[in-house]
Amino acid sequence: MATKTVQRCEANGISVIVAGAGVGGLTTALECWRKGCDVRIFERTREALTSGDSFTIGPTALDAFKNWPFLQQRTREISYHHMIAYHHITGERFAGPLEVTQLVSTSVNNRQFHRHSRPKFHAMLSEQLAQVGIQVEYGKAVVDYAEDAESGKGSVVLEDGSGHQADLVVAADGVKGRSWGLVAGQPVPARSSGNAIYRVAYPVGLALADPAVAERFPLREDGRSVIELWIGSGMNAFFWRNQDEMQWLVQHEDSQDRDTPSSGSAKESWSHRVSPEEVIKYVATIPGWPEIGTRVIRTTPPDQLVHWKLMWRDPQPKWTSPAGRVVQLGDAAHTFLPSSGNGGTQAMEDAISLAACLAMAGSKENVPDAIRMHNLLRFERVSCLQAFGVLNRQKNTSERKQDGSDAKQKQVHIGRWILEHDPEQYVVDNYEKALECLRDGGEWENTNIPPGLVYRPWTIDGLLEAQAKGEPTVLDGDWD
Ligand SMILES: Cc1cc2nc3c(=O)[nH]c(=O)nc-3n(C[C@H](O)[C@H](O)[C@H](O)COP(=O)(O)OP(=O)(O)OC[C@H]3O[C@@H](n4cnc5c(N)ncnc54)[C@H](O)[C@@H]3O)c2cc1C
Repeated sequence: MATKTVQRCEANGISVIVAGAGVGGLTTALECWRKGCDVRIFERTREALTSGDSFTIGPTALDAFKNWPFLQQRTREISYHHMIAYHHITGERFAGPLEVTQLVSTSVNNRQFHRHSRPKFHAMLSEQLAQVGIQVEYGKAVVDYAEDAESGKGSVVLEDGSGHQADLVVAADGVKGRSWGLVAGQPVPARSSGNAIYRVAYPVGLALADPAVAERFPLREDGRSVIELWIGSGMNAFFWRNQDEMQWLVQHEDSQDRDTPSSGSAKESWSHRVSPEEVIKYVATIPGWPEIGTRVIRTTPPDQLVHWKLMWRDPQPKWTSPAGRVVQLGDAAHTFLPSSGNGGTQAMEDAISLAACLAMAGSKENVPDAIRMHNLLRFERVSCLQAFGVLNRQKNTSERKQDGSDAKQKQVHIGRWILEHDPEQYVVDNYEKALECLRDGGEWENTNIPPGLVYRPWTIDGLLEAQAKGEPTVLDGDWD
């Protein structure tokens, strides 16, 4: 079995409970197991959730699969090596198809970007976990987190009233996570970003049954697929026919007080479904929206379309509980706009970093140090990537000149600091130094952020205000 080829460290005596079997929770369970921890994982849903469409997982996360032969092979089989083309909202192309590597800083070599079906990626992680003998415990919703400094334990209370404790509890329970009370002393409410997304994936045969759709969205001669990004004013759309699925999304303004067909029906939930008719009514209000876009929407099965409300929270610098026995991870600690392309990647980087910190700490007594170091080594990087998402949202929802002459300038650009990072090695190189620095009362400087950036806390309102004034919205430093 593939598990035989995974090199596991000697048992370190640290027990870990992971709450939430999303991409972040599953990767945490795998990486903590590999580092020698004893792991349990609780998931609220009754079985693995196979909904969702696709996301980008960056190379900084996928590199960790070098330690996981099954994942390394499987990810090659299931990833899509697509291209991207840019269009006006009228459907006319003004740039591309481009290799995704053309969006990457020129100083970075050979960093491939793949898109993954979330259900397939999730199933792959679950299968690997089962191969190493850890079964996700489904139907176990965490209703509360706690800790006891004296006994050095974190704990969870499940919906069925049972309590469970471990040396470390990882709250990986997603955007509506329940650990804020313990970590921040109060809930940290999310608020609307003013945008929502209609999004869906379904078998490609349904879409190709319409000959006009089949003609507009062929595979290339080399078998690769092309994502079409259509950019409008304050909105955009994305169409992607790949080998087995048709996917589309329409991101739009979602002001509750505006009387448009799309307003008000979105929710921050991956299981909230609406009718494709609602989108057809909405796109009919967009000047120049072409018939082909509507035809694609018409091929959508009636019960699949998610209307996801994009909420946001200002960056929260503290992810750890007071006694250091509970830590937030992934979306539970930091939410991303889809335009950052980093929600899944950063949840995985968190998982790799956290497990590496536990390995550096080496024993259950040192778990509080481990999670504080993890928080210190991760927060600024994640916060910069959240800001990157705000910047990209503006680029991807502002119309281009008709001749496309401003296309390059407004294109999303993925800098070197994003791609040239190894979250495990970063911990190995910096853990002891950072710990010593904090013990001596010094100021720690991270190097996994844009070079030259002096991190200052920011708020979303501050960024939006700067955007409105046409001022630079990202902080200082070299973002290339
Ligand atoms: C069903 C689903 C579909 C998604 N589809 C897409 C998509 O198509 N495109 C995209 O970009 N992103 C999608 N996402 C979000 C994306 O996977 C995450 O933003 C990213 O991977 C970060 O992962 P995470 O593990 O931190 O959070 P998530 O992937 O959201 O995982 C959180 C997990 O915690 C579980 N959970 C929640 N509350 C509790 C509780 N109280 N007790 C125990 N478990 C709990 C949830 O059921 C979920 O499995 C989806 C998420 C989900 C849950």
